[in-house]
Amino acid sequence: MDVGHYAAEPGVISASGRPEFEYNLALAREVRTEIEKLGLKVRLIGERGDYAVLHHRTRDAQGADLFLSIHHDSVKERFLPEADRFSGFSLFISSFNPKAEKSLACARAIGVKLRAAGFTPSRYHADPVLGESRSFADEANGVHYYDNLAVGRTASMPSVLVEAGVIVNREEEARMRDPQVRRSIALAVAAGARACLAKEE
Ligand SMILES: [Zn+2]
Repeated sequence: MDVGHYAAEPGVISASGRPEFEYNLALAREVRTEIEKLGLKVRLIGERGDYAVLHHRTRDAQGADLFLSIHHDSVKERFLPEADRFSGFSLFISSFNPKAEKSLACARAIGVKLRAAGFTPSRYHADPVLGESRSFADEANGVHYYDNLAVGRTASMPSVLVEAGVIVNREEEARMRDPQVRRSIALAVAAGARACLAKEE
Protein backbone atom coordinates (compact mmCIF):
# COMPACT_ATOMS: atom_id res chain seq x y z
CA MET A 1 0.00 0.00 0.00
CA ASP A 2 1.37 3.26 -1.24
CA VAL A 3 1.02 6.49 0.76
CA GLY A 4 0.50 9.08 -1.96
CA HIS A 5 3.07 11.92 -2.31
CA TYR A 6 6.08 12.74 -0.14
CA ALA A 7 7.45 15.36 2.21
CA ALA A 8 8.93 17.72 -0.40
CA GLU A 9 5.78 17.57 -2.59
CA PRO A 10 2.95 16.70 -0.25
CA GLY A 11 0.13 16.83 -2.83
CA VAL A 12 -3.01 18.91 -2.66
CA ILE A 13 -3.33 21.61 -0.01
CA SER A 14 -6.68 21.17 1.72
CA ALA A 15 -9.33 23.82 2.36
CA SER A 16 -7.85 24.40 5.83
CA GLY A 17 -4.27 24.48 4.54
CA ARG A 18 -3.16 20.95 5.43
CA PRO A 19 -1.09 18.87 3.02
CA GLU A 20 -2.69 15.84 1.40
CA PHE A 21 0.21 13.62 2.49
CA GLU A 22 -0.96 13.98 6.10
CA TYR A 23 -4.41 12.64 5.16
CA ASN A 24 -2.97 9.87 3.00
CA LEU A 25 -0.70 8.70 5.81
CA ALA A 26 -3.46 8.68 8.43
CA LEU A 27 -5.83 6.75 6.18
CA ALA A 28 -3.16 4.30 4.93
CA ARG A 29 -2.23 3.42 8.52
CA GLU A 30 -5.87 2.78 9.32
CA VAL A 31 -6.34 0.64 6.19
CA ARG A 32 -3.23 -1.34 7.18
CA THR A 33 -4.74 -2.05 10.60
CA GLU A 34 -7.99 -3.27 9.03
CA ILE A 35 -6.26 -5.39 6.37
CA GLU A 36 -4.11 -7.04 9.04
CA LYS A 37 -7.25 -7.81 11.05
CA LEU A 38 -8.51 -9.70 7.99
CA GLY A 39 -5.41 -11.88 8.15
CA LEU A 40 -3.64 -10.41 5.11
CA LYS A 41 -0.10 -9.06 5.02
CA VAL A 42 0.41 -5.44 4.10
CA ARG A 43 3.46 -3.25 3.64
CA LEU A 44 3.37 0.54 3.54
CA ILE A 45 5.46 2.29 0.90
CA GLY A 46 6.28 5.97 1.33
CA GLU A 47 5.25 6.12 4.98
CA ARG A 48 8.31 8.22 5.82
CA GLY A 49 7.61 10.69 3.02
CA ASP A 50 10.82 9.84 1.19
CA TYR A 51 9.63 8.36 -2.13
CA ALA A 52 10.16 11.05 -4.75
CA VAL A 53 10.32 8.74 -7.79
CA LEU A 54 6.96 7.17 -8.62
CA HIS A 55 8.20 3.99 -10.27
CA HIS A 56 10.30 3.19 -7.20
CA ARG A 57 7.02 2.68 -5.38
CA THR A 58 5.81 -0.01 -7.77
CA ARG A 59 9.34 -1.48 -7.97
CA ASP A 60 9.45 -1.87 -4.20
CA ALA A 61 6.04 -3.54 -4.22
CA GLN A 62 7.42 -6.58 -6.08
CA GLY A 63 5.81 -9.76 -4.83
CA ALA A 64 2.60 -8.14 -3.64
CA ASP A 65 -0.78 -9.38 -4.94
CA LEU A 66 -2.21 -5.87 -5.10
CA PHE A 67 -0.81 -2.33 -5.28
CA LEU A 68 -3.10 0.09 -3.51
CA SER A 69 -2.34 3.80 -3.65
CA ILE A 70 -4.02 6.08 -1.10
CA HIS A 71 -4.82 9.69 -2.02
CA HIS A 72 -7.21 12.55 -1.31
CA ASP A 73 -8.68 14.57 -4.13
CA SER A 74 -8.78 18.12 -5.45
CA VAL A 75 -10.45 19.91 -8.34
CA LYS A 76 -9.15 21.85 -11.33
CA GLU A 77 -7.55 25.12 -10.29
CA ARG A 78 -10.27 27.26 -11.84
CA PHE A 79 -12.93 25.46 -9.78
CA LEU A 80 -11.13 25.92 -6.46
CA PRO A 81 -13.28 28.96 -5.55
CA GLU A 82 -16.33 26.67 -5.83
CA ALA A 83 -14.66 23.53 -4.50
CA ASP A 84 -17.45 22.97 -1.99
CA ARG A 85 -19.58 21.72 -4.92
CA PHE A 86 -17.28 18.73 -5.39
CA SER A 87 -17.30 15.68 -3.16
CA GLY A 88 -17.03 11.92 -3.08
CA PHE A 89 -14.55 9.14 -3.72
CA SER A 90 -12.94 8.09 -7.00
CA LEU A 91 -11.05 4.96 -8.02
CA PHE A 92 -8.52 4.84 -10.86
CA ILE A 93 -7.01 1.99 -12.83
CA SER A 94 -4.77 1.86 -15.89
CA SER A 95 -5.65 -0.29 -18.89
CA PHE A 96 -1.86 -0.53 -19.48
CA ASN A 97 -1.47 -2.47 -16.25
CA PRO A 98 -0.60 -6.11 -17.07
CA LYS A 99 -3.39 -7.23 -14.73
CA ALA A 100 -5.98 -4.72 -15.93
CA GLU A 101 -8.93 -7.09 -15.45
CA LYS A 102 -7.96 -7.85 -11.88
CA SER A 103 -7.30 -4.15 -11.25
CA LEU A 104 -10.86 -3.44 -12.35
CA ALA A 105 -12.22 -6.26 -10.18
CA CYS A 106 -10.40 -4.87 -7.13
CA ALA A 107 -11.41 -1.26 -7.81
CA ARG A 108 -15.00 -2.37 -8.29
CA ALA A 109 -14.95 -4.40 -5.06
CA ILE A 110 -13.63 -1.38 -3.14
CA GLY A 111 -16.27 0.88 -4.73
CA VAL A 112 -19.02 -1.56 -3.81
CA LYS A 113 -17.88 -1.62 -0.16
CA LEU A 114 -17.51 2.17 0.01
CA ARG A 115 -21.03 2.64 -1.36
CA ALA A 116 -22.39 0.06 1.07
CA ALA A 117 -20.79 2.12 3.86
CA GLY A 118 -22.70 5.20 2.65
CA PHE A 119 -20.03 6.93 0.54
CA THR A 120 -20.78 8.32 -2.93
CA PRO A 121 -18.58 8.35 -6.04
CA SER A 122 -17.56 11.88 -7.07
CA ARG A 123 -17.98 11.23 -10.84
CA TYR A 124 -16.68 14.67 -11.91
CA HIS A 125 -13.41 13.25 -13.25
CA ALA A 126 -15.41 11.80 -16.17
CA ASP A 127 -16.76 15.23 -17.12
CA PRO A 128 -14.89 17.12 -19.87
CA VAL A 129 -15.43 20.49 -18.19
CA LEU A 130 -15.54 19.75 -14.46
CA GLY A 131 -12.96 16.97 -14.71
CA GLU A 132 -10.53 15.44 -17.19
CA SER A 133 -12.83 13.21 -19.31
CA ARG A 134 -11.56 10.10 -17.53
CA SER A 135 -13.86 7.46 -18.91
CA PHE A 136 -15.72 5.19 -16.56
CA ALA A 137 -14.60 1.59 -16.16
CA ASP A 138 -17.52 1.11 -13.74
CA GLU A 139 -19.69 4.19 -13.39
CA ALA A 140 -21.91 2.94 -10.55
CA ASN A 141 -18.89 2.19 -8.39
CA GLY A 142 -16.85 5.28 -9.28
CA VAL A 143 -14.08 3.46 -11.19
CA HIS A 144 -12.28 5.36 -13.97
CA TYR A 145 -9.60 4.58 -16.52
CA TYR A 146 -6.50 6.70 -16.07
CA ASP A 147 -4.19 4.93 -18.46
CA ASN A 148 -1.00 6.92 -17.91
CA LEU A 149 -1.28 6.83 -14.15
CA ALA A 150 2.31 5.97 -13.16
CA VAL A 151 1.43 3.67 -10.26
CA GLY A 152 -1.12 1.89 -12.46
CA ARG A 153 1.03 1.53 -15.56
CA THR A 154 4.32 0.56 -13.90
CA ALA A 155 2.94 -1.96 -11.40
CA SER A 156 3.47 -5.62 -12.31
CA MET A 157 0.55 -6.60 -10.09
CA PRO A 158 -3.08 -5.32 -10.12
CA SER A 159 -3.12 -1.66 -9.12
CA VAL A 160 -5.83 0.67 -7.83
CA LEU A 161 -5.56 4.31 -6.85
CA VAL A 162 -8.08 5.45 -4.23
CA GLU A 163 -9.10 9.10 -3.94
CA ALA A 164 -10.90 8.89 -0.62
CA GLY A 165 -12.56 12.30 -0.66
CA VAL A 166 -12.22 15.89 -1.87
CA ILE A 167 -10.23 17.79 0.76
CA VAL A 168 -10.46 21.18 -0.97
CA ASN A 169 -14.16 21.02 -0.05
CA ARG A 170 -14.47 22.41 3.50
CA GLU A 171 -17.22 20.09 4.65
CA GLU A 172 -15.67 17.03 3.09
CA GLU A 173 -12.30 17.88 4.59
CA ALA A 174 -13.93 17.98 8.03
CA ARG A 175 -15.46 14.55 7.33
CA MET A 176 -12.09 13.17 6.22
CA ARG A 177 -10.60 14.33 9.55
CA ASP A 178 -13.31 12.57 11.56
CA PRO A 179 -11.77 9.38 13.03
CA GLN A 180 -15.05 7.49 12.63
CA VAL A 181 -15.35 8.40 8.97
CA ARG A 182 -11.70 7.49 8.40
CA ARG A 183 -12.24 4.13 10.08
CA SER A 184 -15.30 3.45 8.00
CA ILE A 185 -13.40 4.23 4.76
CA ALA A 186 -10.54 2.01 5.94
CA LEU A 187 -12.91 -0.87 6.70
CA ALA A 188 -14.48 -0.60 3.26
CA VAL A 189 -11.14 -0.43 1.41
CA ALA A 190 -9.77 -3.39 3.37
CA ALA A 191 -12.92 -5.45 2.82
CA GLY A 192 -12.92 -4.65 -0.90
CA ALA A 193 -9.26 -5.62 -1.25
CA ARG A 194 -9.85 -8.89 0.52
CA ALA A 195 -12.96 -9.68 -1.51
CA CYS A 196 -11.14 -9.27 -4.82
CA LEU A 197 -7.99 -11.08 -3.69
CA ALA A 198 -10.03 -14.02 -2.45
CA LYS A 199 -11.39 -14.58 -5.97
CA GLU A 200 -9.35 -16.65 -8.43
CA GLU A 201 -9.34 -14.65 -11.67
ZN1 LIG B 1 -2.74 12.75 -4.48
